[in-house]
Amino acid sequence: MPLKSVNPATGKLIKEFSEMSKNEVEEIISSADAAFRRWKEYDPEHRCELMKKAGNQLLKEKERYAETITNEMGKPIAQSVAEVEKCAWVCDYYAENAANFLADEIIETDATESYVSFEPLGVILAVMPWNFPFWQVFRFAAPALTAGNGAVLKHASNVSMCALAIEEVFAKAGFPENLFRTLLVASSSVKNIIDNDLIKAATLTGSEFAGSMVASECGGKLKKTVLELGGSDPFIVLNDAELVEAASVGVKARIINNGQSCIAAKRFIVAEEIYDEFMELFIKNMKGLKVGNPMEKDCDLGPIAREDLLAELEMQVKKSTEMGAAILTGGKRLNREGFFMEPTILEGVKKGMPAYEEEIFGPVASVIKIRNVEEAIKIANDTSFGLGASIWTKDIEKAKLLARKIDSGSVFINGMVKSDPRLPFGGIKKSGYGRELSHYGMKEFVNIKTVWIK
Ligand code: NDP
Repeated sequence: MPLKSVNPATGKLIKEFSEMSKNEVEEIISSADAAFRRWKEYDPEHRCELMKKAGNQLLKEKERYAETITNEMGKPIAQSVAEVEKCAWVCDYYAENAANFLADEIIETDATESYVSFEPLGVILAVMPWNFPFWQVFRFAAPALTAGNGAVLKHASNVSMCALAIEEVFAKAGFPENLFRTLLVASSSVKNIIDNDLIKAATLTGSEFAGSMVASECGGKLKKTVLELGGSDPFIVLNDAELVEAASVGVKARIINNGQSCIAAKRFIVAEEIYDEFMELFIKNMKGLKVGNPMEKDCDLGPIAREDLLAELEMQVKKSTEMGAAILTGGKRLNREGFFMEPTILEGVKKGMPAYEEEIFGPVASVIKIRNVEEAIKIANDTSFGLGASIWTKDIEKAKLLARKIDSGSVFINGMVKSDPRLPFGGIKKSGYGRELSHYGMKEFVNIKTVWIK
Protein backbone atom coordinates (compact mmCIF):
# COMPACT_ATOMS: atom_id res chain seq x y z
CA MET A 1 0.00 0.00 0.00
CA PRO A 2 1.45 3.39 -0.92
CA LEU A 3 1.73 6.10 1.71
CA LYS A 4 -0.62 8.92 0.76
CA SER A 5 -0.30 12.64 1.39
CA VAL A 6 -3.76 14.19 1.16
CA ASN A 7 -4.39 17.91 1.57
CA PRO A 8 -6.95 18.02 4.40
CA ALA A 9 -8.20 21.45 3.34
CA THR A 10 -9.38 20.05 0.01
CA GLY A 11 -9.43 16.28 0.47
CA LYS A 12 -7.31 15.95 -2.69
CA LEU A 13 -4.35 13.60 -3.05
CA ILE A 14 -1.04 15.53 -3.27
CA LYS A 15 1.40 12.67 -3.65
CA GLU A 16 1.87 8.94 -3.14
CA PHE A 17 5.02 7.22 -1.92
CA SER A 18 5.85 3.54 -2.36
CA GLU A 19 6.70 1.81 0.85
CA MET A 20 10.34 0.85 1.22
CA SER A 21 11.06 -2.89 1.11
CA LYS A 22 12.38 -4.83 4.09
CA ASN A 23 15.81 -4.98 2.42
CA GLU A 24 15.89 -1.25 1.79
CA VAL A 25 15.01 -0.62 5.43
CA GLU A 26 17.75 -2.95 6.63
CA GLU A 27 20.32 -1.27 4.38
CA ILE A 28 19.33 2.16 5.69
CA ILE A 29 19.61 1.03 9.31
CA SER A 30 23.06 -0.49 8.62
CA SER A 31 24.24 2.69 6.96
CA ALA A 32 22.89 4.78 9.86
CA ASP A 33 24.81 2.55 12.25
CA ALA A 34 28.01 2.97 10.20
CA ALA A 35 27.52 6.75 10.26
CA PHE A 36 26.91 6.64 14.03
CA ARG A 37 30.21 4.83 14.63
CA ARG A 38 32.10 7.72 13.05
CA TRP A 39 29.86 10.44 14.50
CA LYS A 40 30.26 9.33 18.12
CA GLU A 41 34.01 9.99 17.82
CA TYR A 42 33.45 13.65 16.90
CA ASP A 43 34.04 16.23 19.65
CA PRO A 44 30.72 17.33 21.12
CA GLU A 45 31.65 20.89 20.02
CA HIS A 46 31.84 19.76 16.42
CA ARG A 47 28.48 18.03 16.68
CA CYS A 48 27.07 21.24 18.16
CA GLU A 49 28.39 23.29 15.24
CA LEU A 50 26.52 21.06 12.83
CA MET A 51 23.33 21.28 14.90
CA LYS A 52 23.62 25.07 14.70
CA LYS A 53 23.81 24.71 10.92
CA ALA A 54 20.65 22.58 10.94
CA GLY A 55 18.90 25.46 12.72
CA ASN A 56 20.21 27.91 10.10
CA GLN A 57 19.03 25.66 7.29
CA LEU A 58 15.53 25.54 8.80
CA LEU A 59 15.36 29.32 8.95
CA LYS A 60 16.79 29.74 5.46
CA GLU A 61 13.94 27.80 3.89
CA LYS A 62 11.27 28.20 6.54
CA GLU A 63 8.52 29.26 4.12
CA ARG A 64 9.01 26.19 1.95
CA TYR A 65 9.04 23.85 4.95
CA ALA A 66 5.99 25.61 6.42
CA GLU A 67 4.05 25.19 3.18
CA THR A 68 4.84 21.49 3.16
CA ILE A 69 3.50 21.19 6.72
CA THR A 70 0.27 23.06 5.96
CA ASN A 71 -0.30 21.19 2.72
CA GLU A 72 0.08 17.80 4.35
CA MET A 73 -1.66 18.28 7.70
CA GLY A 74 -3.60 21.51 7.45
CA LYS A 75 -2.45 23.77 10.28
CA PRO A 76 -2.68 27.53 9.60
CA ILE A 77 0.40 28.69 7.72
CA ALA A 78 1.42 31.22 10.40
CA GLN A 79 1.56 28.35 12.90
CA SER A 80 3.61 26.24 10.47
CA VAL A 81 6.16 29.04 10.13
CA ALA A 82 6.26 29.33 13.94
CA GLU A 83 6.79 25.57 14.18
CA VAL A 84 9.81 25.68 11.86
CA GLU A 85 11.23 28.63 13.81
CA LYS A 86 10.79 26.72 17.05
CA CYS A 87 12.70 23.79 15.53
CA ALA A 88 15.56 26.18 14.75
CA TRP A 89 15.40 27.30 18.39
CA VAL A 90 15.75 23.73 19.71
CA CYS A 91 18.71 23.17 17.37
CA ASP A 92 20.34 26.36 18.70
CA TYR A 93 19.55 25.44 22.29
CA TYR A 94 21.36 22.11 22.07
CA ALA A 95 24.12 23.60 19.91
CA GLU A 96 24.79 26.00 22.79
CA ASN A 97 24.24 23.69 25.75
CA ALA A 98 24.92 20.10 24.72
CA ALA A 99 28.66 20.18 25.40
CA ASN A 100 27.92 21.30 28.98
CA PHE A 101 25.20 18.72 29.46
CA LEU A 102 27.53 15.99 28.21
CA ALA A 103 30.57 17.02 30.26
CA ASP A 104 31.81 14.40 32.72
CA GLU A 105 30.23 14.77 36.16
CA ILE A 106 32.79 14.34 38.95
CA ILE A 107 31.43 12.74 42.10
CA GLU A 108 33.41 12.42 45.36
CA THR A 109 33.53 8.83 46.64
CA ASP A 110 36.11 6.49 48.24
CA ALA A 111 37.94 6.40 44.87
CA THR A 112 40.82 8.72 44.03
CA GLU A 113 38.64 9.77 41.15
CA SER A 114 35.12 8.85 40.16
CA TYR A 115 32.91 10.38 37.57
CA VAL A 116 29.97 9.84 35.28
CA SER A 117 30.30 10.07 31.52
CA PHE A 118 27.44 10.33 29.04
CA GLU A 119 27.90 8.25 25.93
CA PRO A 120 25.64 7.68 22.95
CA LEU A 121 23.71 4.43 22.53
CA GLY A 122 23.60 4.01 18.74
CA VAL A 123 20.80 4.30 16.22
CA ILE A 124 17.50 5.35 17.82
CA LEU A 125 14.12 4.75 16.17
CA ALA A 126 11.70 7.69 16.25
CA VAL A 127 8.03 6.90 15.53
CA MET A 128 6.40 10.27 15.11
CA PRO A 129 2.94 11.76 14.53
CA TRP A 130 1.62 14.19 11.96
CA ASN A 131 0.34 16.91 14.33
CA PHE A 132 3.62 18.83 14.73
CA PRO A 133 5.40 17.04 11.90
CA PHE A 134 8.63 19.04 12.24
CA TRP A 135 8.67 19.92 15.93
CA GLN A 136 8.04 16.41 17.27
CA VAL A 137 11.00 15.15 15.23
CA PHE A 138 13.40 17.99 16.01
CA ARG A 139 12.76 17.96 19.72
CA PHE A 140 13.91 14.33 19.70
CA ALA A 141 16.64 14.66 17.07
CA ALA A 142 18.40 17.80 18.34
CA PRO A 143 19.41 16.28 21.72
CA ALA A 144 19.75 12.70 20.45
CA LEU A 145 22.10 13.56 17.59
CA THR A 146 24.20 16.09 19.50
CA ALA A 147 24.63 13.39 22.16
CA GLY A 148 26.30 11.34 19.42
CA ASN A 149 23.51 8.99 18.39
CA GLY A 150 22.21 8.20 14.90
CA ALA A 151 18.50 8.14 14.11
CA VAL A 152 15.92 6.62 11.80
CA LEU A 153 12.51 8.23 11.49
CA LYS A 154 9.26 6.37 10.85
CA HIS A 155 6.95 9.31 10.42
CA ALA A 156 3.15 9.17 10.25
CA SER A 157 2.00 7.83 6.88
CA ASN A 158 0.24 11.07 5.91
CA VAL A 159 3.32 13.34 6.24
CA SER A 160 5.98 11.67 4.09
CA MET A 161 6.84 14.99 2.41
CA CYS A 162 7.68 16.45 5.82
CA ALA A 163 9.67 13.33 6.69
CA LEU A 164 11.81 13.70 3.56
CA ALA A 165 12.19 17.45 4.09
CA ILE A 166 13.59 16.81 7.59
CA GLU A 167 16.10 14.32 6.21
CA GLU A 168 17.06 17.03 3.73
CA VAL A 169 17.62 19.60 6.54
CA PHE A 170 20.31 17.43 8.14
CA ALA A 171 21.91 16.62 4.78
CA LYS A 172 22.03 20.29 3.75
CA ALA A 173 23.46 21.24 7.16
CA GLY A 174 26.41 18.95 6.45
CA PHE A 175 25.71 16.07 8.86
CA PRO A 176 27.48 12.83 7.96
CA GLU A 177 25.63 10.96 5.24
CA ASN A 178 23.04 8.48 6.59
CA LEU A 179 23.28 9.63 10.22
CA PHE A 180 19.63 10.68 10.12
CA ARG A 181 17.40 8.75 7.74
CA THR A 182 13.73 8.61 6.97
CA LEU A 183 12.07 5.22 6.51
CA LEU A 184 8.98 5.39 4.33
CA VAL A 185 7.04 2.52 5.83
CA ALA A 186 3.64 1.79 7.33
CA SER A 187 3.21 1.09 11.02
CA SER A 188 3.06 -2.66 10.33
CA SER A 189 6.83 -2.55 9.61
CA VAL A 190 7.74 -1.05 12.98
CA LYS A 191 8.03 -4.45 14.70
CA ASN A 192 10.71 -5.57 12.21
CA ILE A 193 12.61 -2.34 12.68
CA ILE A 194 12.59 -2.76 16.47
CA ASP A 195 13.77 -6.37 16.06
CA ASN A 196 16.87 -5.17 14.20
CA ASP A 197 19.84 -5.47 16.60
CA LEU A 198 21.28 -2.20 15.36
CA ILE A 199 18.30 -0.26 16.76
CA LYS A 200 19.21 0.49 20.35
CA ALA A 201 16.12 2.34 21.67
CA ALA A 202 12.91 3.95 20.49
CA THR A 203 10.83 7.04 21.09
CA LEU A 204 7.20 7.42 20.10
CA THR A 205 4.82 10.34 20.14
CA GLY A 206 1.23 9.46 19.34
CA SER A 207 -1.75 7.53 20.64
CA GLU A 208 -1.88 5.32 23.69
CA PHE A 209 -2.42 2.30 21.42
CA ALA A 210 0.63 2.92 19.22
CA GLY A 211 2.70 3.71 22.34
CA SER A 212 1.81 0.47 24.03
CA MET A 213 2.56 -1.53 20.84
CA VAL A 214 6.01 0.00 20.44
CA ALA A 215 6.74 -0.26 24.17
CA SER A 216 5.83 -3.95 24.25
CA GLU A 217 7.90 -4.76 21.17
CA CYS A 218 10.83 -2.90 22.68
CA GLY A 219 10.23 -4.50 26.07
CA GLY A 220 10.49 -7.95 24.47
CA LYS A 221 13.88 -6.96 23.09
CA LEU A 222 14.96 -5.10 26.26
CA LYS A 223 15.26 -1.79 24.45
CA LYS A 224 14.57 1.48 26.17
CA THR A 225 11.58 3.61 25.18
CA VAL A 226 10.41 7.16 25.73
CA LEU A 227 6.68 7.67 25.16
CA GLU A 228 4.85 10.94 24.70
CA LEU A 229 1.19 10.04 24.31
CA GLY A 230 -2.18 11.70 24.56
CA GLY A 231 -3.51 14.18 27.05
CA SER A 232 -6.77 15.57 28.38
CA ASP A 233 -5.37 18.65 30.04
CA PRO A 234 -7.56 20.53 32.50
CA PHE A 235 -7.84 24.32 32.22
CA ILE A 236 -9.03 25.39 35.67
CA VAL A 237 -10.61 28.82 36.02
CA LEU A 238 -11.03 29.73 39.69
CA ASN A 239 -13.34 32.41 41.05
CA ASP A 240 -10.54 35.01 41.36
CA ALA A 241 -9.15 34.53 37.83
CA GLU A 242 -8.51 37.32 35.33
CA LEU A 243 -11.45 36.28 33.14
CA VAL A 244 -10.85 38.26 29.95
CA GLU A 245 -7.36 36.83 29.62
CA ALA A 246 -8.42 33.34 30.70
CA ALA A 247 -11.18 33.28 28.09
CA SER A 248 -8.86 34.52 25.36
CA VAL A 249 -5.94 32.19 26.17
CA GLY A 250 -8.42 29.34 26.80
CA VAL A 251 -9.68 29.50 23.22
CA LYS A 252 -6.16 29.66 21.85
CA ALA A 253 -5.09 26.75 24.06
CA ARG A 254 -8.00 24.68 22.74
CA ILE A 255 -7.82 25.47 19.03
CA ILE A 256 -4.06 25.75 18.47
CA ASN A 257 -2.93 23.34 15.78
CA ASN A 258 -6.59 22.97 14.74
CA GLY A 259 -7.24 21.52 18.19
CA GLN A 260 -4.87 18.61 17.60
CA SER A 261 -2.24 19.00 20.26
CA CYS A 262 -1.50 16.63 23.12
CA ILE A 263 -1.13 19.62 25.46
CA ALA A 264 -4.20 21.51 24.22
CA ALA A 265 -6.59 22.60 26.97
CA LYS A 266 -9.34 20.01 26.68
CA ARG A 267 -11.45 20.11 29.83
CA PHE A 268 -12.45 23.58 31.05
CA ILE A 269 -13.15 23.34 34.76
CA VAL A 270 -14.85 26.58 35.75
CA ALA A 271 -15.88 27.91 39.17
CA GLU A 272 -19.65 28.45 39.53
CA GLU A 273 -19.29 32.02 40.90
CA ILE A 274 -17.77 33.29 37.64
CA TYR A 275 -19.19 30.64 35.30
CA ASP A 276 -21.68 32.82 33.39
CA GLU A 277 -19.25 35.70 32.96
CA PHE A 278 -16.44 33.41 31.76
CA MET A 279 -18.70 31.46 29.43
CA GLU A 280 -20.03 34.61 27.76
CA LEU A 281 -16.48 35.64 26.87
CA PHE A 282 -15.41 32.12 25.94
CA ILE A 283 -18.36 31.53 23.58
CA LYS A 284 -17.86 34.95 21.96
CA ASN A 285 -14.17 34.19 21.31
CA MET A 286 -14.92 30.73 19.91
CA LYS A 287 -17.58 32.16 17.59
CA GLY A 288 -15.19 34.88 16.42
CA LEU A 289 -12.59 32.46 15.02
CA LYS A 290 -11.71 32.61 11.36
CA VAL A 291 -12.13 29.09 10.03
CA GLY A 292 -11.03 28.23 6.52
CA ASN A 293 -8.14 28.00 4.09
CA PRO A 294 -5.05 27.34 6.25
CA MET A 295 -2.81 28.93 3.61
CA GLU A 296 -4.30 32.34 4.48
CA LYS A 297 -2.16 34.24 6.95
CA ASP A 298 -5.06 35.27 9.21
CA CYS A 299 -6.66 31.82 9.41
CA ASP A 300 -7.29 30.74 13.04
CA LEU A 301 -8.59 27.26 12.45
CA GLY A 302 -7.94 24.89 9.56
CA PRO A 303 -9.10 21.33 8.91
CA ILE A 304 -8.67 18.12 10.88
CA ALA A 305 -5.67 16.25 9.47
CA ARG A 306 -7.49 13.16 8.16
CA GLU A 307 -11.07 12.27 7.33
CA ASP A 308 -11.11 9.25 9.68
CA LEU A 309 -9.98 11.47 12.56
CA LEU A 310 -12.78 13.96 11.78
CA ALA A 311 -15.33 11.12 11.74
CA GLU A 312 -14.06 9.95 15.13
CA LEU A 313 -14.27 13.48 16.53
CA GLU A 314 -17.86 13.89 15.32
CA MET A 315 -18.72 10.56 16.94
CA GLN A 316 -17.21 11.66 20.27
CA VAL A 317 -19.35 14.82 20.17
CA LYS A 318 -22.47 12.90 19.16
CA LYS A 319 -22.10 10.29 21.90
CA SER A 320 -21.42 12.97 24.53
CA THR A 321 -24.58 14.86 23.57
CA GLU A 322 -26.59 11.65 23.59
CA MET A 323 -25.37 11.20 27.16
CA GLY A 324 -26.55 14.67 28.16
CA ALA A 325 -23.89 17.24 27.14
CA ALA A 326 -25.27 20.43 25.55
CA ILE A 327 -23.78 22.06 22.45
CA LEU A 328 -23.34 25.80 23.04
CA THR A 329 -21.80 26.46 19.63
CA GLY A 330 -20.67 24.35 16.67
CA GLY A 331 -21.04 20.60 16.99
CA LYS A 332 -20.69 19.36 13.42
CA ARG A 333 -18.56 19.06 10.32
CA LEU A 334 -18.52 22.11 8.03
CA ASN A 335 -20.44 21.69 4.83
CA ARG A 336 -17.55 22.35 2.44
CA GLU A 337 -14.65 20.50 0.82
CA GLY A 338 -11.94 19.22 3.15
CA PHE A 339 -12.16 17.91 6.70
CA PHE A 340 -13.33 20.91 8.73
CA MET A 341 -15.00 20.82 12.15
CA GLU A 342 -16.86 23.79 13.59
CA PRO A 343 -15.35 25.33 16.73
CA THR A 344 -17.45 23.59 19.36
CA ILE A 345 -18.27 24.04 23.04
CA LEU A 346 -19.89 21.24 25.03
CA GLU A 347 -21.44 22.16 28.37
CA GLY A 348 -22.42 19.87 31.21
CA VAL A 349 -19.74 17.31 30.37
CA LYS A 350 -19.82 14.45 32.89
CA LYS A 351 -17.94 11.31 33.84
CA GLY A 352 -18.55 8.49 31.38
CA MET A 353 -18.96 10.74 28.33
CA PRO A 354 -16.27 10.52 25.59
CA ALA A 355 -15.70 14.28 26.05
CA TYR A 356 -14.74 13.54 29.67
CA GLU A 357 -12.91 10.23 29.35
CA GLU A 358 -11.12 10.36 25.98
CA GLU A 359 -8.61 12.61 24.28
CA ILE A 360 -10.57 15.02 22.07
CA PHE A 361 -8.29 15.83 19.14
CA GLY A 362 -10.01 18.77 17.48
CA PRO A 363 -11.57 22.19 18.25
CA VAL A 364 -14.06 20.91 20.82
CA ALA A 365 -13.98 22.33 24.36
CA SER A 366 -15.59 20.36 27.18
CA VAL A 367 -16.87 22.53 30.03
CA ILE A 368 -17.47 21.38 33.59
CA LYS A 369 -18.86 23.66 36.34
CA ILE A 370 -17.38 23.20 39.82
CA ARG A 371 -18.42 24.36 43.30
CA ASN A 372 -15.00 24.66 44.95
CA VAL A 373 -11.26 24.17 44.59
CA GLU A 374 -11.33 20.62 45.99
CA GLU A 375 -13.80 19.61 43.33
CA ALA A 376 -11.64 21.27 40.65
CA ILE A 377 -8.61 19.19 41.65
CA LYS A 378 -10.65 16.01 41.90
CA ILE A 379 -12.00 16.45 38.37
CA ALA A 380 -8.65 17.59 36.98
CA ASN A 381 -7.13 14.32 38.22
CA ASP A 382 -10.09 12.15 37.23
CA THR A 383 -8.55 11.11 33.92
CA SER A 384 -6.29 8.34 32.73
CA PHE A 385 -3.98 10.99 31.26
CA GLY A 386 -1.43 13.20 33.02
CA LEU A 387 0.35 15.49 30.58
CA GLY A 388 -0.23 19.17 31.41
CA ALA A 389 -2.59 21.43 33.33
CA SER A 390 -3.36 25.13 33.49
CA ILE A 391 -4.66 26.99 36.57
CA TRP A 392 -6.09 30.51 36.48
CA THR A 393 -6.16 32.55 39.70
CA LYS A 394 -4.69 35.79 41.02
CA ASP A 395 -3.54 33.99 44.18
CA ILE A 396 -0.15 32.61 43.13
CA GLU A 397 0.62 30.98 46.50
CA LYS A 398 -2.66 29.08 46.35
CA ALA A 399 -1.91 28.09 42.74
CA LYS A 400 1.50 26.73 43.71
CA LEU A 401 -0.10 24.53 46.37
CA LEU A 402 -2.69 23.32 43.88
CA ALA A 403 0.04 22.62 41.29
CA ARG A 404 1.49 19.99 43.66
CA LYS A 405 -1.89 18.27 43.87
CA ILE A 406 -2.32 17.86 40.13
CA ASP A 407 -1.15 14.56 38.62
CA SER A 408 0.60 15.75 35.47
CA GLY A 409 4.00 16.33 33.91
CA SER A 410 3.57 20.11 33.96
CA VAL A 411 1.39 22.82 35.45
CA PHE A 412 1.17 26.31 33.99
CA ILE A 413 -0.23 29.07 36.20
CA ASN A 414 -2.04 31.89 34.37
CA GLY A 415 -0.72 30.69 31.02
CA MET A 416 -1.32 27.95 28.46
CA VAL A 417 0.70 24.77 28.53
CA LYS A 418 3.51 24.90 25.98
CA SER A 419 6.82 23.23 25.35
CA ASP A 420 10.10 25.10 25.70
CA PRO A 421 13.56 23.65 24.90
CA ARG A 422 14.79 24.79 28.34
CA LEU A 423 12.10 22.93 30.31
CA PRO A 424 11.48 19.18 30.55
CA PHE A 425 8.40 17.94 28.72
CA GLY A 426 6.47 14.71 29.20
CA GLY A 427 3.72 13.02 31.12
CA ILE A 428 2.67 10.50 33.70
CA LYS A 429 -0.11 7.89 33.76
CA LYS A 430 -1.29 7.05 30.22
CA SER A 431 0.35 10.17 28.81
CA GLY A 432 3.60 8.21 28.73
CA TYR A 433 6.96 8.28 30.43
CA GLY A 434 10.40 9.74 30.05
CA ARG A 435 11.15 13.37 29.33
CA GLU A 436 12.04 15.36 26.25
CA LEU A 437 13.88 18.69 26.04
CA SER A 438 16.24 20.36 28.56
CA HIS A 439 19.14 18.38 30.02
CA TYR A 440 16.65 15.72 31.15
CA GLY A 441 15.69 14.98 27.55
CA MET A 442 19.30 14.77 26.50
CA LYS A 443 20.01 12.12 29.15
CA GLU A 444 17.27 9.75 27.92
CA PHE A 445 19.29 8.28 25.07
CA VAL A 446 22.77 8.08 26.56
CA ASN A 447 24.66 5.47 28.51
CA ILE A 448 25.14 7.08 31.93
CA LYS A 449 28.47 5.43 32.65
CA THR A 450 30.21 5.31 36.02
CA VAL A 451 34.03 5.37 36.00
CA TRP A 452 35.82 4.57 39.29
CA ILE A 453 39.59 4.81 39.79
CA LYS A 454 41.28 3.35 42.87
P1 NDP B 1 -1.12 7.07 15.94
O1 NDP B 1 -0.69 6.90 17.33
O2 NDP B 1 -1.74 5.91 15.25
O3 NDP B 1 0.13 7.58 15.05
C1 NDP B 1 1.32 8.06 15.57
C2 NDP B 1 2.51 7.33 14.97
O4 NDP B 1 2.50 5.97 15.42
C3 NDP B 1 2.47 7.25 13.45
O5 NDP B 1 3.78 7.31 12.95
C4 NDP B 1 1.86 5.90 13.19
O6 NDP B 1 2.16 5.40 11.92
C5 NDP B 1 2.50 5.09 14.28
N1 NDP B 1 1.79 3.87 14.65
C6 NDP B 1 0.43 3.67 14.66
N2 NDP B 1 0.16 2.42 15.06
C7 NDP B 1 1.32 1.81 15.31
C8 NDP B 1 1.69 0.48 15.73
N3 NDP B 1 0.78 -0.45 16.00
N4 NDP B 1 2.99 0.19 15.86
C9 NDP B 1 3.92 1.13 15.60
N5 NDP B 1 3.65 2.39 15.20
C10 NDP B 1 2.36 2.72 15.05
O7 NDP B 1 -2.12 8.28 15.91
P2 NDP B 1 -3.28 8.64 14.86
O8 NDP B 1 -2.69 9.46 13.80
O9 NDP B 1 -4.07 7.47 14.40
O10 NDP B 1 -4.22 9.52 15.81
C11 NDP B 1 -5.13 8.87 16.71
C12 NDP B 1 -5.21 9.60 18.02
O11 NDP B 1 -3.94 9.55 18.68
C13 NDP B 1 -5.52 11.09 17.92
O12 NDP B 1 -6.88 11.34 17.77
C14 NDP B 1 -4.96 11.58 19.23
O13 NDP B 1 -5.89 11.32 20.25
C15 NDP B 1 -3.73 10.71 19.43
N6 NDP B 1 -2.49 11.39 18.96
C16 NDP B 1 -1.71 12.02 19.90
C17 NDP B 1 -0.60 12.72 19.49
C18 NDP B 1 0.26 13.43 20.48
O14 NDP B 1 0.85 14.45 20.14
N7 NDP B 1 0.42 12.88 21.66
C19 NDP B 1 -0.23 12.84 18.08
C20 NDP B 1 -1.09 12.11 17.17
C21 NDP B 1 -2.16 11.43 17.63
P3 NDP B 1 1.05 5.43 10.72
O15 NDP B 1 0.76 6.86 10.46
O16 NDP B 1 1.73 4.75 9.62
O17 NDP B 1 -0.15 4.69 11.26
